Parts: sequence; structure tokens; C-alpha cells
Amino acid sequence: MEKSHEILQQYFGYESFRLNQATAVENVIAKKDTFVLMPTGGGKSLCYQVPALILEGTAIVISPLIALMKDQVDALRANGISAAFLNSSMNPVEQNETFHQLKEGKLKLLYVAPEKLSADNGSFLNLLKNIHISLFAVDEAHCVSHWGHDFRPDYLFLNGLKRQFPTVPIIALTASADEITRKDIIKQLDLQNPTVLISSFDRANIKYFVQPKQSVLHHIVQYLNEHPNDSGIIYCLSRKGTEDMANNLKENGVNAAFYHAGISSTERAKVQDDFIKDKIRVMVATIAFGMGIDKSNVRFVIHADLPKNIESYYQETGRAGRDGLPSEAILFYSNADVMKLKKFAMIEGNEEQSTLMLKKLQHMTDFAEMQKCRRQYLMEYFGESHPGNCNSCDYCLSDFENWDATIDAQKLLSAVFRLKERYGKNLIIDFLRGSKGAKITDYMRSLPTYGIGNNADKTYWHHLIKQLIINDFLRESNEEFSVLKLTDASKEVLFNKKKVHLQKVKELAKAVTVEEIETSYPNNEIDANLELFDELRVLRRQQAEQENVPPYVIFSDATLMELATYLPVTKEELNQISGFGAFKIEKYGETFVNVISNYCNQNNLSSKISEKAPKKQSAPKKANQHESGTYTTTFQLFKEGNSVEDIAKIRNLSVNTIQNHLVNFVEVGTIKPSELIDINKIDPVIAIAKTQTIQSLKAIKEELGEEYSYFEINIAVAFYKWQQKENSRN
Ligand code: ADP
Ligand code: MG
Ligand code: ZN
Repeated sequence: MEKSHEILQQYFGYESFRLNQATAVENVIAKKDTFVLMPTGGGKSLCYQVPALILEGTAIVISPLIALMKDQVDALRANGISAAFLNSSMNPVEQNETFHQLKEGKLKLLYVAPEKLSADNGSFLNLLKNIHISLFAVDEAHCVSHWGHDFRPDYLFLNGLKRQFPTVPIIALTASADEITRKDIIKQLDLQNPTVLISSFDRANIKYFVQPKQSVLHHIVQYLNEHPNDSGIIYCLSRKGTEDMANNLKENGVNAAFYHAGISSTERAKVQDDFIKDKIRVMVATIAFGMGIDKSNVRFVIHADLPKNIESYYQETGRAGRDGLPSEAILFYSNADVMKLKKFAMIEGNEEQSTLMLKKLQHMTDFAEMQKCRRQYLMEYFGESHPGNCNSCDYCLSDFENWDATIDAQKLLSAVFRLKERYGKNLIIDFLRGSKGAKITDYMRSLPTYGIGNNADKTYWHHLIKQLIINDFLRESNEEFSVLKLTDASKEVLFNKKKVHLQKVKELAKAVTVEEIETSYPNNEIDANLELFDELRVLRRQQAEQENVPPYVIFSDATLMELATYLPVTKEELNQISGFGAFKIEKYGETFVNVISNYCNQNNLSSKISEKAPKKQSAPKKANQHESGTYTTTFQLFKEGNSVEDIAKIRNLSVNTIQNHLVNFVEVGTIKPSELIDINKIDPVIAIAKTQTIQSLKAIKEELGEEYSYFEINIAVAFYKWQQKENSRN
């Protein structure tokens, strides 16, 4: 086996490299300079971490965010790799200790904060001269360029790197670089004949939804109830907005907190840490939140207010689903938000800047209003082609009907024609609808087309114009005040009786209560055992607390989902699970295998590892058990009076799965425990749960014995959690 592949499996527990990772690794091993452009979550770290383990010496990684640095080093250590970091948050003793390790050649990777580069006039780089360096990795490399959006002066000390270390390969990595920035990075770092690797920016595991901004709070609460175990971010425009939203959510029993630049830095650090450690489920934040967040199991990103431009929208939604599991991006859109943002965009005395911001806002609005594949729009916006029909945006998931728009299209196009293609859409619509406004001249009123469109309201005409533009029956000029122009196709309609067939959405797919997910995947995949998944999560959290690292440093949700699906019961079988490298198998294998074996015994199950052919890169599709609609379906069937067993039969799911769905509704107070179990059994369970810091069903069961089933304990604990939440808000 190739060395790099072997390292990938042995240390990281992954079966295969993602696109471009392998090339990047091979390049660096061959000591060639390399430039990597990959979206957030694409897997940039491995591009230098694997070579660092293969090449002799220490890899120096320059990374701008102190919080991330610690996580990365923790994650490496959790895989049995010797790594350390240097930044200004450390005291001199700690720094000396790290220097010592470095000089002794004990480190495979050293993460360095940019401020270390500039300190004492760049003495740090001089110090490295006496050390065997394997490679330099410049993460977030756009920080070196004035053209990037996050220029950092400290990064300029990297300019001399190549001259000082001509034989050491440099790998520069970023998720955000347009053509100018890209060229500038290569120039600033003086990369020698670099291999440039550019990956697609498509985030296939994120679904995109846009919904009208009405009863936002209600919709969000409903969404959160349907995704009771999922963690995510809600972005609001204003500080006050975040506070109101967070408080409202708390009143609705949601474990939420708010974050904005106006709260103290200690408080900010605390809520951020709680979110990363899964102690806070929902973070309501302004855009100040997110830069330093590497949490891999963010399942949803909701925009309660419209973002300023597509760049921000894409970056913020990109924080969902870094672990590759299905995730959702939901935007609540209203015209009022557009108006508000327009005001912000006008910067007095800076016309150029204002025009640019307004244009970017217009693209954002177009994205929200258009009727075509959202993913395609996004990809094309970033200069990548995409065929559309992604089957994972609200548009592609919607039902359509054909619509013969010929007559209204004729009216509209002839208005444009009569007014000599000299006006924008607002005037055209006023004219069509017979407006008496001052902008409509006497001459215009004398035209036969004046007023022939008063059969429909303005919104309708706006919508039709959009549709006609998308389908090439009209175009908008690119001047400062854009005007509507006819096309070849519109002339066919006007003069050759060409028909206009458009498509109309019959019902737009929504993120809230969508059922499509269940049918969009074949039903023959094996079930993930959600109860076990929850137990494994508890185990992971306990482990993480012991080691004082975020839970996802131990294992990602994707890994736990594989465990709960394929039920490995020996250490050998763990080899097949993505995310279990040799070190983690040694360290955690036994503990996890024990919990899984117990679960199998209690539920009369056995290992399904043989059904898992090769190790998968992404998680098993059955992750969709966690998706929206499935909980609601169970809930509805239950409310219709069906027993758990009946629901399991109707839905062709295991009793276990149905029970787990119901537990979630007890936890949010929608179902009372008495509807499911003997009420006399509740108090004894709660009495024990109270003595635990993290609820362990297993420990409770051990105390209570055979008389109590796991389901009963689970329900009682869920009820207890609900009570706690209730108390905390009174
Ligand atoms: P980036 O720095 O590009 O935002 P990361 O390097 O943090 O992305 O990787 C994102 C996630 O993808 C991590 O959880 C990482 O473990 C996972 N990952 C990266 N490469 C692979 C791979 N080849 N197979 C499976 N998971 C991977
Ligand atoms: Mg990264
Ligand atoms: Zn689509």
C-alpha cells in the first residue's frame, strides 16, 4: 500500500482521500510548492498533516485563529500524533517547554500564530534555521493578501520564507480566494512553480431552502422541535434581534444562547465554548459569530434576516455539515429586509462603494426570489458551472405545474415595445396597470397598451417579469438604471404568435415539515439504532469532559452514526468504521465496543459489519433517520391513536426507532409521559437521574433492575429534562 494511504488509515481512520487531497499530499511529499483552494469543510488539514507524518522533521503550520489551533492540536493528539502550538496566550514557561520539544525533534507538527512571526522583528523564523523543518503550511492563506477580505499584517513576515528556506516546500491553503487574491498569495509567498489545486465549492450535503418571512419564531420553534437532537446556528441582523430571538426560544423550551460583539469577551468565549461542547444547542448570533468555529456537527444554519450578499450567505451556511452528514440552510426572506439593507448599503460620499454593495444585495435578492435551482445559482455565482436539478434545494424538491402565460406575456412585451425599451420594470408595470402617477406622461396614456394589465397586481407582474427574464423572453440592461430590453424570443412572441409556456410552483418544498427525505432515499438501508446513538453520544461527552476537549475531537457524529448502524462488537470490526484509526481503536475501542455489545444483548441484535462493504467516506445514508419529517410522521400516527408497535409496522421501522422518536417529543413537552408509560415508574427513575451529572440510561437501569425497560427509563429521563427546562425559565 502507498505510504500516504497507509498513514491516512492508520492515524486518521479514513479509507480514502477526497478529491485533490491525494494530489496535494503527493506534491508536498515531493517537496513541491502547492496551492490548495477548497471550501470550508473540504478537508484542507489532511493536505499538510499527512505529509507532515511522512517527511522527516517538523511541519510548521501558520494558522490565524488561536481557538482553532488548540482544537486542531487536540484532535491530532487524540489520534496519537505529537503536535503542539505556540501563541501569545501561553506563558513563558509553556512556550519554553514547546521550544524544547521542537529542538529535540519531538514534534511532527507545530502550529504557530501569526503574531509569533512578527514578534522581535521576525526572530522566530531565524530560530527555525537550526531545526529540521519538513514543510511550511500557511492555512487561511488569503490573510497574506490585501485583496483578500481578512488581511493580517503579521502574515507579511511570511514574504521572506522562501528565501530563508529555499528547500522547504510551502503549502498554502484557503477557502476564499478569487483570481486576484489567488495570484497575490502565490506572489507574496513567492511559491516556486506551484501546483494549483482548485476544488469544487459545491457543498453537496447542505440543502438550501428559502421561505417567506412570516411567523418566523413559530416556524423556527417547529423546526427545532422536529430536529430535537440537532445543533445549529441562527443568524440575525442586529444585536437586539439575537437577544429577542434567543429569549423567545428559551421560553419555548429550546436550549439557546445569543452571541454578538456587544457582550463581554469572557461571556463570548464561554457561550462559544458551551456551543462547541454541545452544552448549548442553538446559537443565535450576529455575523460576529463563526470565524473561530470549527464545530463539525452543526446540522442547520438559519438566517432569520437576509444576509448582505451571497458571499456572506455562503460562508455562513457553509458552517453547517462539516462532518459531511446531511444538513440544512434555511433563509427567511422578506422585502422589508431588502429595504432595510438598502439603507445600510448607501454609504454617504462613497458612491462607488455604495453601487457595489447595492449590486451585491441585488444578487442576494435574486437568489431568494428566483425560480430555479438554488445550488446552480450559487455555483454559477462563484464561477463554477452546475447543471441544476440538484434534488436538494427547495426548488428542485418542489412540485410544478405548467402554466400558459402567453396572453400576459404579450401584454407585457408589447408595453416594453411601445415604450421603446427605454424604461425599467417599475414604470412598465405602472404603465400596464394604468397608474395615474406623475411619471406616466400624457403621451404614454394615449397608447393602446396603457392600462391593459390592470387584471393583476404588481407582485404578479414582477413575478412574470422575473420568469420572462429567466427564460430569455426579456433581458435587463446593465446600465446604472437598468431598463427592460426585448430579445429574439420576445419578438417571436410579439410578431409570430410564439406561445409562452412557463412553470409555476404548485407547492414549494419547505424545510419545516418536509417529508421528501424519507422517500428520496431507498428504504432498504439498515436502521441506525438511535437509542444507541444517544448512548454513544453520552459516552463521547463524558470522555470529552475528562480530556477537556470538544466532543467532536474524540469522534464526529458521522462516526457515531456508523457505530449505531453497523454495531461493531470487536476491535477488529472497528477497523471498518470511518474515523477509527489505530490509536483511537487502542484508546477508546474497548469502551465503545462494550456499550455496543451490551446494547446488542439487550435488544437481541448482532453485528452488521458484514453489510458494510468498504469503509465509506461519508456516513451511511440512514443518517436521514434524523431528518425532519420522520419525527412528525411518527407523532401524527401516535396522536391518531396508534400504538408504538402499530406505528412501527405502518412505517416499516423498528419499534426501537419509533420509541426514540417519541422520547424526543416528551423531552420538549409535546407528549406527556403518562401517554406512554405507567406514571408510577417516573419518580424512581428521576430520583436516580438527579444524582447524575450526565444521564446514563444504563446506570439507571442497573439500579432499578428488570422491572424497568430502557424505553420507560428513557421516557422518564426525557420528562425530567423537560421539567428542568421548565424550571430554568420560571
Ligand atoms: P477545512 O479545513 O477544509 O475546512 P477540515 O480539514 O477541518 O476542513 O476537514 C473537515 C472535516 O472533514 C473533518 O471532520 C475531517 O476529519 C473530515 N475529512 C477530511 N478529509 C477526509 C477524508 N479523506 N475522509 C473522511 N473524512 C475526512
Ligand atoms: Mg481548516
Ligand atoms: Zn436545486
